[in-house]
Amino acid sequence: MRTQCSTRLLATLALGLLASCATRSSLPAERTAVPTANGPVVPAWSDASASAFDWATLEAIEAWLASSDAVRWDHFRSEARLKLGTGLMGIDPEAPEATRAARWERASEQFTQVLADAGASREQLDRSERLLAVASRGPAGTRAPRSAFGIAEVPLLDGAVPRARWARSAANPTRMDGIDRRYTEFTIHHSHTPAGTTAERIRRDHVSSRNYGDIGYHFVIGSDGTIWEGRALRYQGAHAGGDLNRGKLGICLVGQFESARPTPRAIASLERLVRHLSEELDIPLGAVKGHGEVKATACPGRHLQSWVQRWRRTH
Ligand SMILES: [Zn+2]
Repeated sequence: MRTQCSTRLLATLALGLLASCATRSSLPAERTAVPTANGPVVPAWSDASASAFDWATLEAIEAWLASSDAVRWDHFRSEARLKLGTGLMGIDPEAPEATRAARWERASEQFTQVLADAGASREQLDRSERLLAVASRGPAGTRAPRSAFGIAEVPLLDGAVPRARWARSAANPTRMDGIDRRYTEFTIHHSHTPAGTTAERIRRDHVSSRNYGDIGYHFVIGSDGTIWEGRALRYQGAHAGGDLNRGKLGICLVGQFESARPTPRAIASLERLVRHLSEELDIPLGAVKGHGEVKATACPGRHLQSWVQRWRRTH
């Protein structure tokens, strides 16, 4: 898929221009799809404005999402979900509240899927987050916020350093996969680097040597107990190995623990972080594994692995 990237980018740009021209000239929503030089079509629904949506338009979007065009066209796939979700929230405002609540629930699912879509653009992700926050409160605005796989409202643990405060470059969402499920367990790593290594040093290494979109771990803990927020939880980590990353929240302790031992401060931070995330994300407290239990590797070293085993025995 990546090899078609430049072709796809050009095509998407061209389609974007077509789409905006169509909006300006206010063509009717039932306009037929336009073939382009590169084969794909501008979906018929793409120039309908959300306020003018009727059931036929929403059904057309749903049908398009179920078609092979939706698999091929990242930009329109997310646009379709954004429009469908917005349409479901806006349509038929006089319907009984229970009916509207069910529609807003379906709208939340659309926005959640955009957040989990690696093909969504930065701007589409931002829009989805905003719309999800509105949709998840329900039409009456009274429901407790509910979020994508439980992640959108997770507060950062007190004292942890937000990524925005330490990372020197923004993450590149096109090189990360959105999560496609809830987190169900923690994977514990050691960095296998000197004790003073910073999260920024690890991030740079992951981005430049491994071509990752961001640091691979969701959290990094320094030997002085500093907790750095790493990759945003809405993205699958890059720490366990390929598909093994699915559903696994990656935490890395700085140091190598084959011969050295983790400091009591680092362990105290690790335990505090695991308790916090377990509570926020409904991950069982004892669902903690060393990297070596997931994949054949010496990580996280025998001294940190012995903490993992002790923790599991007692939680
Ligand atoms: Zn590891």
